[in-house]
Amino acid sequence: MSDRTIALDDRLYEYVQKTWLREPPVLSRLREETTKIGDAASMQISPEQGQLMATLIELMGARRVIEVGTFTGYSAIAMALALPPDGKLITCETNPMFATMAGEFFEEAGVAGKIDLRLGPAMETLEALQAGGSANTFDAAFLDADKENYRAYYERLLRLIRPGGLLMIDNVLWDGLVADPSAQHPSTIEIRALNEKLRDDERVTLALTVIGDGLTLARKRG
Ligand code: CA
Repeated sequence: MSDRTIALDDRLYEYVQKTWLREPPVLSRLREETTKIGDAASMQISPEQGQLMATLIELMGARRVIEVGTFTGYSAIAMALALPPDGKLITCETNPMFATMAGEFFEEAGVAGKIDLRLGPAMETLEALQAGGSANTFDAAFLDADKENYRAYYERLLRLIRPGGLLMIDNVLWDGLVADPSAQHPSTIEIRALNEKLRDDERVTLALTVIGDGLTLARKRG
């Protein structure tokens, strides 16, 4: 019994993975392949987080999703698999190598037809979408890109999702550094600033899921 979120030690984490995880084989393969990239592999979300996000997408009956930060495609595939056949997911990535790898796995997962990968600076893609009349049209968004721009991405994504839509923001606990006053890297400062901004932001209903590196759930109020 506990009145606070319990910590997962290795044994309990293994139990969680063994008991709850329903990872499609293509996503297990993608995780394996991503590990070969080296240090950057840590940017990949955990499988239990992918499963949670897919469940939320399914729960909402989402049809249109936008993602900032494709990396090698794990979260995009997890969400796209939860979309209906005519669902669409736009995902933004700046790194051509990651985008190529993601594209191969979109094919393998059978979701290439649902995913529109936009290679280039996400800020430009988001602004073009808004200028093109896509404000208030997305059911859900996932933000997991360069942390120094988190507040700027947040504002743009908030405009793109519809009232009642869900914005998911990754790495909000930043390996615990957000609570360490001596941690002053620009990424840490910006994540902290976004977290504090959201606390007081009446435009959204707010919750935190302590999964992976911390996932904020913000529902746009109508
Ligand atoms: Ca992340």
